[in-house]
Amino acid sequence: MVRAEGVRKRFGDTEVLKGVDAMVSRGEVFCLIGASGSGKSTFLRCINHLETIDSGRLLVDGRYVGYEERDGSLFEVGERELAARRAEIGMVFQRFNLFPHLTALENVTRAPVMLGRMKRAEAIETARVLLARVGLADRADHYPSELSGGQQQRVAIARALAMAPKLMLFDEPTSALDPELVGEVLSVMKDLAREGRTMVVVTHEIGFARDVADTLAFMDGGQIVECGPPDRMIREPSHPRTAAFLSRVR
Ligand code: ATP
Ligand code: MG
Repeated sequence: MVRAEGVRKRFGDTEVLKGVDAMVSRGEVFCLIGASGSGKSTFLRCINHLETIDSGRLLVDGRYVGYEERDGSLFEVGERELAARRAEIGMVFQRFNLFPHLTALENVTRAPVMLGRMKRAEAIETARVLLARVGLADRADHYPSELSGGQQQRVAIARALAMAPKLMLFDEPTSALDPELVGEVLSVMKDLAREGRTMVVVTHEIGFARDVADTLAFMDGGQIVECGPPDRMIREPSHPRTAAFLSRVR
């Protein structure tokens, strides 16, 4: 579903991604850990084409991110195609970025209605099902300011699901939450993983990664330096930097 080969990205003089290699199969949960500033968010943003890569190859579902192939050559995709591809990828950020002036239900129905995916009535029905799935059936008519951080983050997940994405990206979805609210969000994410969704999750929750990830990847200095089954990597990291990082977060 995601294939990265030698992906590089610089901001001005700073090279942030220095040749990232990664492979995420359909149905796989891929957890990405690493120190602050190592490039995790930048990599996630490249997958969604919120950033453009400088070199290397990056493919999502067999297509070059931001490009389409015609007659054997690559061309930048137009606005419409870009929007269509983005709609296939759900993203949940660290900060709850719900629309503050819309209720939970309206937040979830907005994209599918605006993009013409569903009629209003169908979108509302779908949104109610999704809100129930994240445990918020009784909060549909609340505004974000009337919801806890954990509830807002669950609305954000329901909102991403409303577009029936083929890939979900999570960027530290629990790190801005009070500790007692972390569990409810992780539990929703566990359910998604169990359903066989393809997920790339940047997280500091090592316990979650150990329980849920098929692959755990450690990013350091703009590269994925170690990657494999979480159990083994947590028990006996093969790279000294992974070991140092894990001993700090545990
Ligand atoms: P954290 O765990 O703190 O979220 P991260 O691994 O997600 O860190 P990134 O956000 O990818 O790290 O940032 C990697 C580096 O790139 C940082 O040094 C950051 O300052 C820099 N950076 C990120 N985005 C930009 C930008 N738009 N312009 C300039 N520098 C940027
Ligand atoms: Mg980040």
